[in-house]
Amino acid sequence: MIPLYAHPSGRHFLQIPGPTNVPDRVLRAIDHATVDHRGPEFGRLGLAVLQGMQWVFQTRSPVIIYPSSGTGAWEAALVNTLSPGDRVLMAETGHFATLWHRLAMRLGLDVELIEGDWRHGADPLQIQARLAADTGHRIKAVCVVHNETSTGAVTDIAQVRQAIDRSGHPALLMVDAISSLGAMDYRHDEWGVDVGVAGSQKGLMMPPGLSFNALSERALAAAQSARLPRSYWDWGAMLPLNASGYFPYTPATNLLYGLHEALDMLRAEGLPRVQARHQRLAAATRAAVRAWGLEIVCQDPAAHSSALTAVLTPDGHSADALRKVILDRYDMSLGQGLGRLSGKAFRIGHLGDLNDLSLCGALAGVEMGLSAAGVPHRRGGLQAAVDYLAQAAADAAPAA
Ligand code: PLP
Repeated sequence: MIPLYAHPSGRHFLQIPGPTNVPDRVLRAIDHATVDHRGPEFGRLGLAVLQGMQWVFQTRSPVIIYPSSGTGAWEAALVNTLSPGDRVLMAETGHFATLWHRLAMRLGLDVELIEGDWRHGADPLQIQARLAADTGHRIKAVCVVHNETSTGAVTDIAQVRQAIDRSGHPALLMVDAISSLGAMDYRHDEWGVDVGVAGSQKGLMMPPGLSFNALSERALAAAQSARLPRSYWDWGAMLPLNASGYFPYTPATNLLYGLHEALDMLRAEGLPRVQARHQRLAAATRAAVRAWGLEIVCQDPAAHSSALTAVLTPDGHSADALRKVILDRYDMSLGQGLGRLSGKAFRIGHLGDLNDLSLCGALAGVEMGLSAAGVPHRRGGLQAAVDYLAQAAADAAPAA
């Protein structure tokens, strides 16, 4: 018999929560002759993308662009603002919060960790209590992950800001917006974030390779006295050159052409519409998961991510075996369970360049995969998503 699924045709379904699908327009923009990064054309490109990133972050303060993955921007946020032995308050929301915590420890920071169950966002009241107890103001920064990509639980950053203000504590607020920026509401200035950290490969619809720090006046002031060693990540070396669109070392020229195009696409759709689209796709996904009778990792309905949904497989059923069947048969990649969720959960990415019908294709793949892998579930998840999306479209249609 001919093995039916041996040669996938059509496009691969990349439904991991980053890297996300890169639109053809962006790929074509990256396919550009590499220019002199000290010449006039580059200066114009540099200025345009630096300003564009201020717009996405919703900030008037400078944004730094690094040729690195998001991990580099995590490190940059810490080394530019802190000194050896400084105390930092972090919230254990999941795998990525754990990795940032480990990075901070390795840098010689004294990290106080608020433990979490990996099923909720960070609790602003716990943050407030820790800060209130720190009467000597030893804590120099509060670091939280906005959208915890390992669990699909969101932390309310405006509430964290209020908690810091209520405690009257001067700590800086650093926010990992790596999987939220460009997909979910993020307001750097309004929420009083001091350092926002992001990456290119999620809501910005770009390949991996660029990362970002959005700053604040307080963060810039902290950088004046911070003593952790820094060279490659030094904001001080970047900012004077960025003012005219240039960089202190060779920038990722072609990725910046792609970023320029991606920013144009986001501008044309408008951030409110981009966010509403993500909310709609997320709600449809959750409707499917509930109809299948499976459990969503995030237990707080107010904290459900609109970028991804992490789903637990029933006890005794490997999420990795399910993902393998789906990849082999339907050529779709789903996110694996990370850290303590390894083998127990899979993640459906629904962020970036995605629409109702691509999501339906992805959910069809999950539903067929659940049957093929023998994972107990009810039928009708895809139908529940279709019903949700059809209703959303009808509600949005202008009255006849
Ligand atoms: N923080 C979050 C929330 C992430 O989702 C990721 C990656 O997925 C990272 C940090 C690490 O970023 P990178 O893998 O680009 O270094």
